[in-house]
Amino acid sequence: MPASSVALLGLGTMGSGMAHNLLKAGFGLTVYNRTASKAEALAAAGARIAETPAEAARGAKIVISMLADDPASREAWLGADGAVAAAQPGSILIESSTVSPDWIAELGAAAAARGLQLLDAPVTGSRMQAAGGQLSFIVGGSFEALAAAQPVFAAMGKETIHLGPLGSGAKLKLVNNFLCGVQAASLAEGLAWLERSGLDVEKSLAFLKSGAPGSPLLSALSARMTSHDYTANFLLKLMSKDLQYAHDAAAEAGVDLTTAANARALFEQAVAKSHGEQDMSAVIEPLRNR
Ligand code: NAP
Repeated sequence: MPASSVALLGLGTMGSGMAHNLLKAGFGLTVYNRTASKAEALAAAGARIAETPAEAARGAKIVISMLADDPASREAWLGADGAVAAAQPGSILIESSTVSPDWIAELGAAAAARGLQLLDAPVTGSRMQAAGGQLSFIVGGSFEALAAAQPVFAAMGKETIHLGPLGSGAKLKLVNNFLCGVQAASLAEGLAWLERSGLDVEKSLAFLKSGAPGSPLLSALSARMTSHDYTANFLLKLMSKDLQYAHDAAAEAGVDLTTAANARALFEQAVAKSHGEQDMSAVIEPLRNR
C-alpha cells in the first residue's frame, strides 16, 4: 500500500495503540485527534498529524474512526470538517467505534452517495490488545471492501470476522457489551455484598472464579475491584453508553433489555459520583460507600 494511505481518527485508549501498530506494519499514516496533544507521541513515531478529519482523509485509501460514541463519530465523518466530504471516491471507510446500528445505516448511506464504501468493524479486546495488535474485529459490509482492507485489519488485530451486511458488526458488538455490562454490574453488587457479609473475600472470590459464574471478565474486573486500581482500560462512562445503545437496538428488534436498564442505572450512579473517567470496574465504589 502506498505511503500515507491510511488515516486514523481518534487517539484515545484504543486508537493510539491501533495507530502505533499501523506504523509498525509500515503503513503511511495520518492521524487526527480533537485534543491535539494526544497526537504528539504518534508524530514522534512517524505519523503525519492532520488538524481536521477532512485533512486526514484527503488522499487516504482507508480511513478508520475510533471515537467515543455516535455524536463524536458523526462530527468526524459528517461535521463541518468531516472526512466523508473529503475522502476520494473509491476509498474505504472503517467505523471501529462502538456506535448504534441506526447511525451506521445513516453513515453508510452518506458514504455510498459519495462513492465510498463503509465497513462497520467494532472491536473486542481492550487497551492491552489494542497496544499488542491483538484485537478481534467483527465486521459488517461488503466482502470486497473487507478483502481490500484486510492488511490494515491484520496490522491491528489477531482476527477479522465477517458477519454479514453493513450494521452486523455494530449489532453483535452491542450484544457482546450488553452481556459484559450486566455481568460487571452484577459482580459489583455481588462483591459489595461479599465484603459486608463477613466472608473471607479472597477465598470466596477464588471459589466463584473457578465455578459456574467464573469468566475472563469476572476474573479481570474482580482483581481491579479488590485492589481499587481503576486505571482506565475501558472508561466507565463508555459502558453506560453501550448499555443505552444496546437497550435501544434491542427495543427496535422487539426485545426489552430490562437487565441492561438496571445495569446502566448502576453505571450512571457511578458517573454521578465522578467515576465516569475511571475504569468500568469502579462501578462498585458507590455500593461500598453508601
Ligand atoms: P477514549 O479513550 O475515551 O477515546 C475517545 C476518543 O474519542 C478520543 O479520541 C476523544 O478525543 C474522542 N472524542 C470523544 N468525544 C468527542 C467529540 N465530541 N468530538 C470529537 N472527538 C471526540 O475511548 P476508547 O477507550 O479509545 O474507545 C474508543 C471506542 O472504542 C469507543 O466507542 C469504545 O466504546 C470502544 N471500545 C473501547 C474498548 C476499551 O476497552 N477501551 C474496547 C472495545 C471498544 P479527545 O482525546 O479529544 O477527548
